[in-house]
Amino acid sequence: MAFSKKLKQLFSSAPKKNKWDGLIEAYKPWLPVTKNTPIITLKEGATPLIEVKSIANRIGKGAKVYIKYDGLNPTGSFKDRGMTMAISKAKEAGCEAVICASTGNTSASAAAYATKGGMKSFVVIPDGYVAQGKLAQALVYGAEVIAIKGNFDKALDIVRELSEKYPITLVNSVNPYRLQGQKTAAFEIVENLGDAPDWLCIPMGNAGNITAYWMGFKEFFHAKKSKQLPRMMGFQASGSAPLVENKIINNPETIATAIRIGNPVNKEKALLAKESSNGKFTSVTDSEIIESYKILGREEGIFCEPASAASVAGLLKVKDDVPKNSTIVCVLTGNGLKDPDCAIKNNDSIFHTGIDPEINSIIKTMGF
Ligand SMILES: *Cc1c(COP(=O)(O)O)cnc(C)c1O
Repeated sequence: MAFSKKLKQLFSSAPKKNKWDGLIEAYKPWLPVTKNTPIITLKEGATPLIEVKSIANRIGKGAKVYIKYDGLNPTGSFKDRGMTMAISKAKEAGCEAVICASTGNTSASAAAYATKGGMKSFVVIPDGYVAQGKLAQALVYGAEVIAIKGNFDKALDIVRELSEKYPITLVNSVNPYRLQGQKTAAFEIVENLGDAPDWLCIPMGNAGNITAYWMGFKEFFHAKKSKQLPRMMGFQASGSAPLVENKIINNPETIATAIRIGNPVNKEKALLAKESSNGKFTSVTDSEIIESYKILGREEGIFCEPASAASVAGLLKVKDDVPKNSTIVCVLTGNGLKDPDCAIKNNDSIFHTGIDPEINSIIKTMGF
């Protein structure tokens, strides 16, 4: 009896260290959910913050640089943070189907969470401009995929109209619950570092994520959970930089397909985040993006998709502006496995093919 009582005590007092039930459970008081909200989760969030010395060394001046590796979310991108909220709220409202326009990651995430929540999903994508991994995900998670002969901006126009006329919920980042979920990444950074960083570097497409991060940093700052606010440093690909050039880009082009967007829906909010944080928007070329993509893989063991590498490429581009002893976080928004074609085409590794399967020819190939 005494022993079993002791055992019971032991178990009940065991630290709940490995318990992570997703970001809604973790940050409930900060999110627009109630007891009646059904929580649809794949245990997203709690992604690692990784120090990257190879980037810091290229900057010098005592900089500390970290990667917020949001490509480690359940479907491989930060979109899951917003989708757990958007789908939970759609479920609460009794909705049976969701729709989105997507450069790929939103469709993958919407499809997975809709399926988890017992809803149907439709995704409208630009034909031929969605990376293989993302398309594979949408199909595997059971979405109905509609590829249009037009770009993302066109696809978004269509789904916006559709969701107004038919009983189907739009889960693009115009859906305010998306940004609510995404702001939790800023909370995690503050909790990991013990304060907000000096700079936050982030790629921008529709500019929902930069808006969400800024919201998160402000909320924690006002709640006295951080002593400072970061400068919001947003980066776009130079062929697709409406926020840098301050105009709509009709035919955006870039290898970073996730940010191939010419008319960002969250433009006003993103500009406000830039102004209030004394931030800066800059564009980076595709070759600068690929250079950073390679550095992260080769020198840090971190595989991200090209759009994500824009944050690091951007930081390196404006490194002369980095003040002494700064703490900088670069957001890596998506996983490298999303876009295997890009990876195979863009690396400096040695790949011997057609080698005879015998030890001598292998030894010779290896240069011994
Ligand atoms: C969606 C996405 C972005 C852009 O985020 P926005 O909120 O549209 O600015 C950047 N990188 C990846 C990998 C994405 O999937």
